[in-house]
Amino acid sequence: MLETELEIHLKQNGAALVGFSALGDKAPAELGKFPFAVTIVRKLSDAVVETIDGKPTLPYFQHYRITNTKLDLLALCAVDFIEAHGYDALPVAASQSTNTDKEAYRGIFPHKTAAVLAGLGFIGKNGLLITREYGSKVRLATVLTDMPLEPQRPLLSDGCGDCERCKSACPAGAITGAHYVYGAPRDTILNARLCSEHMKTYRDIGRGAVCGLCMRACPYNQKAQQERT
Ligand code: SF4
Ligand code: SF4
Repeated sequence: MLETELEIHLKQNGAALVGFSALGDKAPAELGKFPFAVTIVRKLSDAVVETIDGKPTLPYFQHYRITNTKLDLLALCAVDFIEAHGYDALPVAASQSTNTDKEAYRGIFPHKTAAVLAGLGFIGKNGLLITREYGSKVRLATVLTDMPLEPQRPLLSDGCGDCERCKSACPAGAITGAHYVYGAPRDTILNARLCSEHMKTYRDIGRGAVCGLCMRACPYNQKAQQERT
């Protein structure tokens, strides 16, 4: 089975989780020739995430950037694998947001859409993917493809309940506290512009814009960490 072969290949090269999805009506019209997606997950370092305390840190900024690079390399591994099997593949970079066009703060395809369809997690009130294995301490990349893929895991339902820790932790007031509803506009849970503007206030840290406070606050991180130890 190609899914199993590709998952083993990516995990041998450093992926923490791999998921497969059929995008259906979630495939972007301009990318309609790619109805399937491979989601690649890298776990963030527990020790690095623990350095975040009220504000992001230089170790987090550096780790965030190298994790994105690693994800992009893993996406290339997936592209090579898929092309070697006679199909086309389009990698979507781990970090792809832009504020230079009318679709401000959006990339060409949202990683979390494919990740949820692949059963890798649910979208929390912080707008992040929350995984069973690693909580919200993950980064993602996606490879869109015409290689037929079957999801390997059941979809997970929203697990935030009454928790609002991420909303309380957000210094920008960017998190509304609403539950994520599949297909609803992102603005219902997160004001991306407020978030992005706030992140720029940390530009003294490694000359980059990162935050991570809402990721750090999520209790699913500790739960997942305890289950791994
Ligand atoms: S990254 Fe920071 S500013 Fe953005 S939503 Fe999370 S806590 Fe708020
Ligand atoms: S901190 Fe609480 S409300 Fe926010 S994403 Fe995690 S579980 Fe959901």
